[in-house]
Amino acid sequence: MKSICVFCGSSPGSTTDYIEAARLLGTTLANRNITLVYGGAKVGLMGQLAKSCIESGGKVIGIIPKHLADKEVAFEGISELMVVNSMHERKSKMAELSDGFIALPGGMGTLEELCEILTWAQLDLHQKPCGILNINGYYDRLMQFIDHSVEQKFMEQEHRDMIQIDQNPGSLLDKFEVYQPPVVNKAKWALKLTEDVI
Ligand code: AMP
Repeated sequence: MKSICVFCGSSPGSTTDYIEAARLLGTTLANRNITLVYGGAKVGLMGQLAKSCIESGGKVIGIIPKHLADKEVAFEGISELMVVNSMHERKSKMAELSDGFIALPGGMGTLEELCEILTWAQLDLHQKPCGILNINGYYDRLMQFIDHSVEQKFMEQEHRDMIQIDQNPGSLLDKFEVYQPPVVNKAKWALKLTEDVI
């Protein structure tokens, strides 16, 4: 694994545990010689993650849309800062440059990015590992909701199980190394269910 994309809050969150987790992830990526790909901002957890990776000798590629760069939130001290035209362009560039995806705690932006990359995985548009760093149980309720979605037959168990979860960045990356993508394709599964039920 040469590069990992991290989605995380542009805010620091309510406790220093989140900041420490972002810093530990940055350091771990640097120590493992894995390039960090992220949203390019200097604010919140995003900034702490990038800063710690750079300070530990790592390589950081930030991808930021012009409208956010204009608001002076871009992190100028990283290895490479790419300014793109839109949020959509940013996300496809992040996906293209990365061998796996990790979500740290964050808000709507983080959730949206995590859900999109998981959606692309279940549609077989990529076969890369996706995981959550579940700091202080932040994502417990999201996982409960996803289990409810499986129970209600809006999601296949195999697609739920492709979400790797851990509290420690090193063990999450170890899981990524042995990850096997699911064989069930969402489109085929939905077609079969529709034929069976309707
Ligand atoms: P949120 O979790 O709502 O704070 O959003 C974080 C995600 O949305 C990041 O991964 C970024 O891609 C994007 N984002 C939101 N706010 C900013 C910002 N001020 N600067 C750069 N990216 C941002």
